[in-house]
Amino acid sequence: MNSNEETFSYLIDRDCLIVSVDSSFKQFALENEAPELAQQSLIGKSLFGFLCDHNTEVLYRQMIERVRGDGRPVTVPFRCDSPTERRYMELQISPAEEGLLHFCSSMKRIEPRESVALLEQNSPRSDEILLQCGWCKKVNVGDEWLEVEAAVERLQLFSRPLLPELSHGICASCKLQLMADLES
Ligand SMILES: [Zn+2]
Repeated sequence: MNSNEETFSYLIDRDCLIVSVDSSFKQFALENEAPELAQQSLIGKSLFGFLCDHNTEVLYRQMIERVRGDGRPVTVPFRCDSPTERRYMELQISPAEEGLLHFCSSMKRIEPRESVALLEQNSPRSDEILLQCGWCKKVNVGDEWLEVEAAVERLQLFSRPLLPELSHGICASCKLQLMADLES
């Protein structure tokens, strides 16, 4: 691991309750407009309380089962973008002592970009809902999944008085990739 690589980690028990969180995780939550994750105590809360959609929960459960089943770690890439940065990260789930599981996210690469208003947390929204993949952060437009900038352009969101709401799920290609990672 290179010394500049940031990591954020936590441990869960057999019931998938969080038993500890490292301090960089809290810092990361604060910097990522998720102060609710940094301020409240996460200890004793279910991991699944933080996953926003059913598909993601199912995949997490499959990853957890895989790691518990054969004791080998599983690693999956994901994006954790901010309005001004594309952040390429990796999640590794590995067994820890006494039946605990260690979740460790590490930052692999950051690409700065012009701020994307659609990703700002506090801007007012219309009733329209756009689906965004929770893993690669692409946005569903018709039957395609596009990078957020391309989706903004395609849907001409610049000209709207209010931006649509984002809801999270998983795109077909991330689902396939995850299933392949689980079987490898
Ligand atoms: Zn995806």
